[in-house]
Order: sequence, then C-alpha cells, then structure tokens
Amino acid sequence: MHRNPEKVRENIAKADTEDLLDRVTAFRAGMEPEGLAAIEAELRRRGVSAEEIADHRAECEEECLFGPDGVAYKCSLCRRPAVADRWGWHRLGNFIPLFPRRFRYCRIHSQTDG
Ligand SMILES: [Zn+2]
Repeated sequence: MHRNPEKVRENIAKADTEDLLDRVTAFRAGMEPEGLAAIEAELRRRGVSAEEIADHRAECEEECLFGPDGVAYKCSLCRRPAVADRWGWHRLGNFIPLFPRRFRYCRIHSQTDG
C-alpha cells in the first residue's frame, strides 16, 4: 500500500479527537508506527494528556471486542470500536434475508439499534 504522508497528516488533522483516541487504543495493533506517532503528536497538540489516552485505553480494553490480531472489531454501522455483537440477517436490497451474519455495534449503536 502506498501512503502519502501529506494525506495522512490531513486526515489526522481533520479527525475527531475521539476518533484519534480510538485509533491509538482500540485499533493500535493494526497501526503503522509512523501513523501512531503522528496521531499521538496531534493529540498532544490538542491538549490530550498521556493520562487521558491511558484512561481511554483501559476503558476500551474492558469494553471493546477484539479480534485474534489484537485489533478491536469495528461497528457495522460506523468506524467506532464495537462493544457488542448480535446475529442478524444479511439482507439483499434491505428486505430479502440472505444469510445470518454477525453484526457488531459500538457503544452508541448498541443502544439505538434494536
Ligand atoms: Zn457505531
């Protein structure tokens, strides 16, 4: 995969602080070292302390669902880390049930969906 450092920086600068926190905690194991360093620098710039990052991480380790690679699963509806999963029907065109699949939900979607 080719990476464009400019694009990466731009992406980080535009991201929500919570999104960045998720990336250096829940999704940390799947990140490249340069990406991690850039995000941690951005978080420091925004005034997020190492302690806050550690808190976010501890919370995530307790709540999030992790895959065998140590990377948290993503919500089926957004890109936050998943905290709950449920079986549901994979649907064709939203109404014809095709096969059952596992859906994962973040903290927000696990409360609003179903
Ligand atoms: Zn979600």
